[in-house]
Amino acid sequence: MIEESTVVAFADIQVGDGGVLLAAGPCSVESEEQIIRTAHLVREAGANMLRGGAFKPRTSPYSFQGLEAEGLKLLAKARQETGLPIVTEVLSPEDLDLVAEYADLLQVGARNMQNFPLLKKLGQIDRPVLLKRGMMCTVKETLMSAEYILSGGNSSVVLCERGIRTFEDATRNTLDLSAVSLLKEWSHLPVIVDPTHGTGYKSLIQPMCKAAIAAGADGLMVEVHPRPEEALSDGFQSLLPYEFEEVVNQIRPYLELEGKQIHHA
Ligand code: PEP
Ligand code: MN
Repeated sequence: MIEESTVVAFADIQVGDGGVLLAAGPCSVESEEQIIRTAHLVREAGANMLRGGAFKPRTSPYSFQGLEAEGLKLLAKARQETGLPIVTEVLSPEDLDLVAEYADLLQVGARNMQNFPLLKKLGQIDRPVLLKRGMMCTVKETLMSAEYILSGGNSSVVLCERGIRTFEDATRNTLDLSAVSLLKEWSHLPVIVDPTHGTGYKSLIQPMCKAAIAAGADGLMVEVHPRPEEALSDGFQSLLPYEFEEVVNQIRPYLELEGKQIHHA
């Protein structure tokens, strides 16, 4: 374990060194009613951050691409109503200034972990970054991508394990929890886990959250949707708000055991 861990702070929340990030919300921002309702429900369940994609990296160009600027405005409205800070994805360097006007935490998605022009630009701004591990990237490559941001002058980086591609096809990805412990050993940065994309399986979210905390994670990110069957992306893996609340209640004793707390803004 690195002696001095970096604490990433925003909106009165501290991630790392005992402070836990618990981000929850839909895969995509779809409508005002959807995002505001979800924000209230995940806050009541115990989340301290709202997630939701406005710019979506979709495998098919015919799938829903996100509400873009309109989605960012809806996220800001949800933050205003609930007090929850927001994490949302920035897809390209050209969008960074716009997304940074709204996001408390800028997400770099798995497909962009080695988008070096984007990483370089993120190094030059004063806003924390959530760097998701690429699905085909090693632990060392993940740390080198973080280094692009850090060496540019931005010291606020949170890493996220979200599963990698392996021969196993029973789960959407293979959630590499050993990487969490290793990243904590090799780096001073906070590390969170996304068991939703990591497994693609609703029933695995609770056990993987518990395991992530035991592995040393400083936080979790979970997809939650009030009507998953109507979701425009990733509905199959999204928890209902009450299911998310159950997960939060189940993980509290594990957090306590590790001496960790969920701070609220
Ligand atoms: C997401 O969290 O919205 C997302 C697209 O995840 P990933 O980049 O890990 O696939
Ligand atoms: Mn998703």
